[in-house]
Amino acid sequence: MSLYQNASDLREELSELRRALHREPELGLDLPRTQEKVLAALEGLPLEISTGKGLTSVTAVLRGGRRSEGKASAVLLRGDMDALPVHEDTGLDYASRVPGAMHACGHDLHVAGLVGAARLLADRRADLPGDVVFMFQPGEEGMGGAKIMIDEGVLDAAGERVVAAYGLHVFSTVLPQGMVATRPGTVLAASDAVRVTVRGAGGHGSSPHAANDPVPAVAAMVGALQTMITRNLDVLDAAVLTIGSLHAGSAGNVIPETATFDATVRSFSEDAHRRVRAGVERVVHGIAAAYGVEVDLDYQEQYPVTVNDATEADFALRTAQEIFGGARAIEAPRPMAGSEDFSFVLQHVPGAFLGVGACPADRDPATAPMNHSPQAAFDDAVLPDSAALLAELAVRRLDRAEAAAGDAR
Ligand SMILES: [Zn+2]
Repeated sequence: MSLYQNASDLREELSELRRALHREPELGLDLPRTQEKVLAALEGLPLEISTGKGLTSVTAVLRGGRRSEGKASAVLLRGDMDALPVHEDTGLDYASRVPGAMHACGHDLHVAGLVGAARLLADRRADLPGDVVFMFQPGEEGMGGAKIMIDEGVLDAAGERVVAAYGLHVFSTVLPQGMVATRPGTVLAASDAVRVTVRGAGGHGSSPHAANDPVPAVAAMVGALQTMITRNLDVLDAAVLTIGSLHAGSAGNVIPETATFDATVRSFSEDAHRRVRAGVERVVHGIAAAYGVEVDLDYQEQYPVTVNDATEADFALRTAQEIFGGARAIEAPRPMAGSEDFSFVLQHVPGAFLGVGACPADRDPATAPMNHSPQAAFDDAVLPDSAALLAELAVRRLDRAEAAAGDAR
């Protein structure tokens, strides 16, 4: 029986786990109840399990039965576990019971899919020519949990550096249910967070000459930043800068002391990333000087560009096509503007990040509410597929590593 066939037997069990996670979402790096559920789900499997220090991660290592001592390769499979500060509005019977928290990005499915992969691979343990590291990660949503797990040693959890890493993400929209998509090279954007605080001197609205108004300086920055983007970047290597929050003052006849704004920046290459950062610094400081105000610029680089290794992306796509049929696995025509801290993993080891369509059957993927929406819904039906895909990637990649080692001998 193939892994794909075995996976369908897990359907109910994985769906139950996913729904339990969905009912009780947790935010950030500290997910004690989620961690408990993962540990319970892995109980009885032949895994070496450790938990995180700076976060509630779970790292599990499966030792292959055919691993050769000293020469075994390891492959990493990753699932993120955290929810979002969103108040669920789906009306589902397993909807969040925690006010203000929701698995609106489908990470509950990632956890269940990875548990499924662990079950499938544990059954095949005797045939595995190497080890598999399962990375259950908190804090993907802005907290950089992947980076903390890397610092705590997840890439070397099997005793040697993993040769490849794979992760997948479900989507409530765009992709039809069951469709797998990935691409070589850039697959997701880099994200930066920018906060600008302009300080002038407050005063009476009737007498701006006797004050130092920060508002016109901020207004000039808002426009100039958009112009900077269009004049500094290759049109085919785009970036976007959105100022989503802007605040100054409390009354129409009072000149405020300060004005602030917050922006997010998304870019798709290191070159564009560098250009935007340099441009923001130039524009903000230049305009502040021109208007005679003080400025504080806090430019936080959050997540880097997620870059799939070309060979690994091709291998992952071919694997998906062989499991599910060619029509259900496509090369994505372009990257997406979301960002991911799996990018940190791919900075250290080659690998691939894949998208899986999880739009419920009664919704149109073209118009269904997107990930992060309070109405976003993800169909359990994709769990056996997710588990089979992750498990199959690990098996085939370990076989490939064994063949390469054989050639080298
Ligand atoms: Zn996500």
